[in-house]
Amino acid sequence: MTSRFYLGIPREEIAWNPAIDEEKCIGCGQCFEVCPNNVFAMDEASGKMKVVNPQNCVVLCDKCKAFCDQEAISFPDKEAVKRFIAERLRAAAARAKDAEL
Ligand code: SF4
Ligand code: SF4
Repeated sequence: MTSRFYLGIPREEIAWNPAIDEEKCIGCGQCFEVCPNNVFAMDEASGKMKVVNPQNCVVLCDKCKAFCDQEAISFPDKEAVKRFIAERLRAAAARAKDAEL
């Protein structure tokens, strides 16, 4: 698998992707239609949408949530994820500065 990065941070270390509440999902396909990144796939057996490629979700995007009339899509706390990213960037900057000394 190819490693992916967001602002130099390994993508898999950033906890940002949608979750679907199966109780609420009616399998309408709106989220699948709106996302170009193959994050979702329909589970034919259950008739519910599944998150199959969470790492494909664009960090801090939450567009699909607005298209789910059932309010079945949720995301982690955006501000907490922003703080995590900012902290990682500060740590990387400090390491780079130390390396210059
Ligand atoms: S938009 Fe909502 S209800 Fe429709 S398939 Fe996606 S998660 Fe399910
Ligand atoms: S948040 Fe954006 S990138 Fe992520 S699954 Fe939804 S539409 Fe796709």
